[in-house]
Amino acid sequence: KVTVPKPHEQRIITIANQKGGVGKTTTAVNLAAALAHQGMTVLVIDLDPQGNASTALGIDHHSGVPSSYELLIGEVSVKEAIQQSPHSERLLCIPATIDLAGAEIELVSMVAREGRLKTAIQEANIAGYDIDYVMIDCPPSLGLLTVNAMVAAKEVLIPIQCEYYALEGVGQLLRNIGLVQSHLNPELHVSTVILTMYDGRTKLADQVAEEVRAHFGDVVLRSVIPRSVKVSEAPGYGMTVLDYDPGSRGAMSYLDAGREMAARALARRDGADGAA
Ligand code: ADP
Ligand code: MG
Repeated sequence: KVTVPKPHEQRIITIANQKGGVGKTTTAVNLAAALAHQGMTVLVIDLDPQGNASTALGIDHHSGVPSSYELLIGEVSVKEAIQQSPHSERLLCIPATIDLAGAEIELVSMVAREGRLKTAIQEANIAGYDIDYVMIDCPPSLGLLTVNAMVAAKEVLIPIQCEYYALEGVGQLLRNIGLVQSHLNPELHVSTVILTMYDGRTKLADQVAEEVRAHFGDVVLRSVIPRSVKVSEAPGYGMTVLDYDPGSRGAMSYLDAGREMAARALARRDGADGAA
């Protein structure tokens, strides 16, 4: 069943923030699951050697499984590396294995080192799957893996944790996005900021939310992801929170976020058409 409008063209979204533990992986898998639940076909590319996104999606990612590593070094195609989540036929994943840990260094000496993921995605044209959304989960650094993700995507989604020092490092992230934009990928832009681990009982969470909205304006989603035990438990069962506890506040908030993202892209596009 389709409950959100399909995008006019495939959206490739990089989920980045060089700070660890802000909810990148949690957002990548749960937003992907939400959009799949709403009728979209979604591919998650796990670019973090930790492989947490692969784990959360219940995807086999032991060393030797065709993965984002082999994809980057050109040993396999998207088609060979893609797996289907056991929980949804519309949710696909290219996993990360521990082999990816060396890639940051291996890539340095490779030809077109910043554009390898983009080329791999383009060459495959992600054939036969009719993918609406590609979500790329980045490691907590601004190295070559993250640069590959930023070159492959049009959009950056930045998760920001509603905690002290929420905006710490964001300036550096934005400067890096600017560098990629001016040298490698002119279309790249921050399309979405999502507030994560929001605790409504604290004043701090509201202060942070206000500060982030003041800083980023209307790219910040109205939907806010609450801090919730269910969200943090789900990956331990190889599940997203949508499968683990579909009625939970965490699941609902990611469904809301998915709806909002789908609607906003269309609104922007229609707005642009109107202005032209
Ligand atoms: P990152 O990928 O940015 O390093 P993660 O998505 O792995 O961050 O999240 C860091 C930790 O916070 C994980 O243990 C995760 O389960 C937990 N977490 C993320 N989002 C929530 C949430 N909304 N409520 C509770 N725990 C969360
Ligand atoms: Mg992560």
